Amino acid sequence: MARTRIVATLGPATNSPEMVRALIEAGVDVFRLNFSHGTHEDHGARIKSIRKLAGEHPVAILQDLCGPKLRLRQAVKGKPGDVVDLELPASVKAGEPVLLADGIMQLEVVDARRSRVVTGGDIPFGKGINLPSSHLDIPSLTEKDRADLEFGKAQGVDLVALSFVRRAADLDEVKRSGIPVIAKIEKPEAVRNMEEIVRAADGVMVARGDLGVEIPIERVPVVQKRLIAMANRECKPVITATQMLRSMVSSPMPTRAEATDVANAVLDGTDAVMLSEETAMGEYPVQAVKVMERILLEAEPLLSPRREMLGPESADAIAHAACALAERVGAAALVVPTSSGYTARRIAGYRPRIPILVLSNSEVVRRRLSLVWGLEVIAAPWFNETAPVLERFRDSIRGLVPAGSTVVVTAGWPFARPGTTNLIHIATV
Ligand code: PEP
Repeated sequence: MARTRIVATLGPATNSPEMVRALIEAGVDVFRLNFSHGTHEDHGARIKSIRKLAGEHPVAILQDLCGPKLRLRQAVKGKPGDVVDLELPASVKAGEPVLLADGIMQLEVVDARRSRVVTGGDIPFGKGINLPSSHLDIPSLTEKDRADLEFGKAQGVDLVALSFVRRAADLDEVKRSGIPVIAKIEKPEAVRNMEEIVRAADGVMVARGDLGVEIPIERVPVVQKRLIAMANRECKPVITATQMLRSMVSSPMPTRAEATDVANAVLDGTDAVMLSEETAMGEYPVQAVKVMERILLEAEPLLSPRREMLGPESADAIAHAACALAERVGAAALVVPTSSGYTARRIAGYRPRIPILVLSNSEVVRRRLSLVWGLEVIAAPWFNETAPVLERFRDSIRGLVPAGSTVVVTAGWPFARPGTTNLIHIATV
């Protein structure tokens, strides 16, 4: 199995239980339910089917909320120079660009009710509107998003993605739901505020579909690399999304460029790669996952483990040391018991070559970790011993170093057997 995770979007092509089973068998780790389409009834049926077919296998469900995406309330048709009726948010300014249907038709704002056509077209009702240069004074969550989020929570979705995030504060309401939130980076404002968003979110998505409309297309690869590097440093899972194997919507094979794009995302350091139309409405959904898995397996051996420390916390030092130690002693695996997944994410951040076996007694934690690079998550009982045995030496050290100091303890366990130095422990005395 590849260590880079595969996210697949469900849609009309993959609604049947047979398809869901085939996708899981082909290597899907996370199913994305796109709430821009479909009813609660449709999504509820998908959730039920995924849970039933995945059984004990940790497969996560990612609920993708539409966010404040603007859509045409009526068809728009015109040729260059025409002034057409188009309702836009009141905060738009004359001269700002308006892009319809992913940029197929281009206009410029005259006022909030009319725009002048720059590149002509005939766009049906419901298609997306992008206003890349406008500062939009609109809420980050719509009433539909709120109802969808409530539904998702009741259904027990594992992760929520929010579209059209502009700043860290846009995530607050979803965060209050208690479900980890993935910020979709697709607005120029989000690119400018990337650092604070990565810090506030539980994960991020390079949402290249809208991003490629909202910023000049030539900037997309650079933003992808910067965002992945930033997320890697914070040990937050990052998904590279959209058009990865686009031609497989109607062809059994991807293009050479698409195969190279997937491999390059792995080498950039992405945790996960995502399929959208390919699995939602394509003719070859299972084949797309299999091809993706093959490309990942071929690219992954080129990925180098990270040698530099990712952060200043003791958790970083431990994760860094554990990976170096494992390599040094030729360990067969890193074994990581975890309650929240925090330690496991930090270990994964170093991209060790050996397997990372994560032990958790929580089904939810196990499923959520299926978005993180390289973790093999296993159900295990929990031991509630909060005081490790080395803590018993605390009294002997007291007074020898200033109170509240951090010390590093190394020892061999069991103590009675000389020559078994096998423990490293950070303690505060
Ligand atoms: C994207 O824009 O790349 C994306 C994943 O979002 P959506 O499919 O919701 O437009």
